[in-house]
Amino acid sequence: MKKTIIIGGGISGLATAWLLRSKAQAAGNELEITLLEKEQHPGGKIRSIKAEGYTCEWGPNGFLDSKPQTLDLCRAIGVESNLLRSNDNARKRFIYSGGELHQLPDGAPGFLRSRLISWPGKLRLAMEPTPFIASAPVGVDETLADFGRRRLGAEALDKLIAPMVSGIFAGNPETMSLVSCFPRIAELESEYGGLIRAMIMLAKKKKRDQAAGKVVSSAAGPGGVLTSFREGIQYLADAMAVSLGDIVRPGVAVAAVEKGTDIPYRVKCSDGAEYVADQVIVASPAFAAAEMIAGLDGGIAGILQQIPYASMTVICFGYSRGQIKRSLDGFGYLIPKKEGCNTLGTLWDSSMFEDRAPEGKVLLRSMMGGACFPEYVTLSDDEVVARVRKDLALTMGIDAQPEFVRVFRHPQAIPQYTVGHGARLQALDDALKKHPGLILTGNSYRGIGLNDCVAAAERAADEALSQI
Ligand SMILES: Cc1cc2nc3c(=O)[nH]c(=O)nc-3n(C[C@H](O)[C@H](O)[C@H](O)COP(=O)(O)OP(=O)(O)OC[C@H]3O[C@@H](n4cnc5c(N)ncnc54)[C@H](O)[C@@H]3O)c2cc1C
Repeated sequence: MKKTIIIGGGISGLATAWLLRSKAQAAGNELEITLLEKEQHPGGKIRSIKAEGYTCEWGPNGFLDSKPQTLDLCRAIGVESNLLRSNDNARKRFIYSGGELHQLPDGAPGFLRSRLISWPGKLRLAMEPTPFIASAPVGVDETLADFGRRRLGAEALDKLIAPMVSGIFAGNPETMSLVSCFPRIAELESEYGGLIRAMIMLAKKKKRDQAAGKVVSSAAGPGGVLTSFREGIQYLADAMAVSLGDIVRPGVAVAAVEKGTDIPYRVKCSDGAEYVADQVIVASPAFAAAEMIAGLDGGIAGILQQIPYASMTVICFGYSRGQIKRSLDGFGYLIPKKEGCNTLGTLWDSSMFEDRAPEGKVLLRSMMGGACFPEYVTLSDDEVVARVRKDLALTMGIDAQPEFVRVFRHPQAIPQYTVGHGARLQALDDALKKHPGLILTGNSYRGIGLNDCVAAAERAADEALSQI
């Protein structure tokens, strides 16, 4: 029987193991799968912590239902009926600018009324579909900042694009690659000649499709509906781990992946244990994969080490509802770097999902650090709490002491798809050809959202199966 070792039990490794097992069974292939996870509890960045009636998400708080991958996986593992959709509040998103929270407008009239962007900034944005805007530079891996300045203007870059980049990647738009972070935006520009033009054409197409009776996505807004579980998003990781049973070996840190003698690979663990395998699927972060693979192929390890990571601190504050003067009707808000605040933004978790806070209480979750503020990762818990309180006072007028506080730290939290990322992936693909059976998956390569990780897991499972 062929043996497959999967390294890393975050959503990427768990989904790879689950999909590989189910695809192998469907194809009638006998396969011995083992998943080695360093920590005692699988899930990686996914962890939902319950304390004093609050449910705090340590990392992700859900996935968007506008892409099918995670929903399909939930159906396949039988947890679809436990899904919890965020309520309508989550559609309202805010940006803090110039001393107030501005709701992000969802159409042209709202945009014209909004005070988030100045009139000169609006005029610059209105030029986006015109021939005065330079086309994408040919053969250049453009940064998100260069793309923003070129197409939308400097103000839209600061107040719209940069907060979006920090909200998703905790990243710096001056270094991040447009085509690696948001390939669809690059595609829309090249297909339609501009973003506004693309939005108009796609809206017309949707109307035509609806008129012709075709099924069109029912997801609210372009991003879809944020989806989780009543118990928190950890429910998904736990369900996969339970279903995989003995396949998952927690508390086993892999030290090295080496060439085997009569079987292709030997996997050495920090505790001295050794496993042999026909295939090794590495689903750990790139920097951890680099360490494991260094002896096998220094070239691959060198490329993996070039993928930088941003650290993050997540801070949960619980309050009595009466202590918050403003409405919490929304998803929360992001803060442009130019505002000079300490936090990247704050999510109103208890407004999005039921049961995230006890009756009469609210749960706010602030983010700190990221690629623009790497030094914040060294702050003490007391300093972190003091700085979050300062920002909440400024942005939301909250002077009260939180009655519940949790600080979660993520060193090397999120991979940064900086300029050159696409070339690095190509070099990895080429180098991996020398090592049949060695597969890399996870959030370090082609998308960091939970949907992206599940899509990558499916590709890894298909590739593994095709090699057997
Ligand atoms: C604060 C935060 C908020 C986020 N919010 C969202 C969100 O709301 N929605 C969304 O879609 N995405 C979100 N993301 C992104 C998403 O959570 C991650 O991209 C995703 O969970 C990564 O999964 P992964 O399995 O690829 O990696 P990880 O979760 O990092 O898992 C990798 C695993 O490998 C293990 N490992 C490492 N080294 C070894 C070793 N030597 N031996 C064995 N095991 C090893 C680790 O212990 C870990 O369990 C967020 C991320 C963060 C940090």
